[in-house]
Amino acid sequence: LEDYQCVVPRWCVGCGDHGVLTAVQRLCRDEKLPPEKTVFVSGIGCSSRFPHYMSTYGFHGLHGRALPIAEGVKIKRPDLNVFVIMGDGDCCSIGTAHWIHAVRYNMNMTAIVLDNGIYGLTKNQASPTSQIGQISNTTPTGSRLEPLNPISVTLGISNASFVAQAADWMPDVTHDIIQQAFRHKGFSFVRILQRCPEFQAHRYDDWVRDPERMLLLKHDNGLHIGPELGRVYRNQELHDPSDRNRAREIASGHDPIPVGILYKNPNIPCYEELQVPDTMNTSEGVSDFLEAEFDKVTINPKGATI
Ligand code: SF4
Repeated sequence: LEDYQCVVPRWCVGCGDHGVLTAVQRLCRDEKLPPEKTVFVSGIGCSSRFPHYMSTYGFHGLHGRALPIAEGVKIKRPDLNVFVIMGDGDCCSIGTAHWIHAVRYNMNMTAIVLDNGIYGLTKNQASPTSQIGQISNTTPTGSRLEPLNPISVTLGISNASFVAQAADWMPDVTHDIIQQAFRHKGFSFVRILQRCPEFQAHRYDDWVRDPERMLLLKHDNGLHIGPELGRVYRNQELHDPSDRNRAREIASGHDPIPVGILYKNPNIPCYEELQVPDTMNTSEGVSDFLEAEFDKVTINPKGATI
């Protein structure tokens, strides 16, 4: 993996981000991604240090703004492999508008949300995915709101083309899911349940200790569940990833927690490939277009535009 490794990560010991970083570096190695053709874009948060730890190109952006930066990169350089790394606060709070429209635009990139249910970098504030009753600096008597489910929200956007869920304590499965996401042509949305031992020490303990409480979604072109993994994670379901209604039902389940590819539609066009008239590719072309449109407008004698 050394081709893709950079400095030693500064995340806390036991942080789930370490496992995700390794899974992503394995993916880069397996797919033989040229570092000079690969870019990681992030916002702000613990996980957003990700680009610093990859020996590819990277952009450590503003809080909640990773997606528009990545879209700018992709529209200008569609030949690059673009990955977007966000936290739950980053994507599901301040970045929500960008998230919804990124799914709608369906540009060819892989978006990974490391969801630990807390703001870790700023030291323990509730996030949109915090659980009811969760104690934090901003919810000293416990969070009172139903947490937002990033998978259900994404599935609710009609242009969604790839939606998956992984867990940091299942590194092989996480690697497989990220690989499928990368190979999908379009906007791939992967939520990774991520442990934060610093501020959410026990949130996923029950699921980590009991593999039966994880539901593996299988399908022909989906996860590669070898015999060893199959013996550990015996709770499996054959799932058709084109079935959005079933995906919605599965996504709403909290126990067991589903992991795998919930939904995939390879037929949605990518925004960067939608045909734009050649004449619109230059500023002169845009001016000519606007002038022609203006000429179509007539003004009646009373001044109202028709
Ligand atoms: Fe990881 Fe939590 Fe530490 Fe941030 S605060 S690096 S999320 S363990």
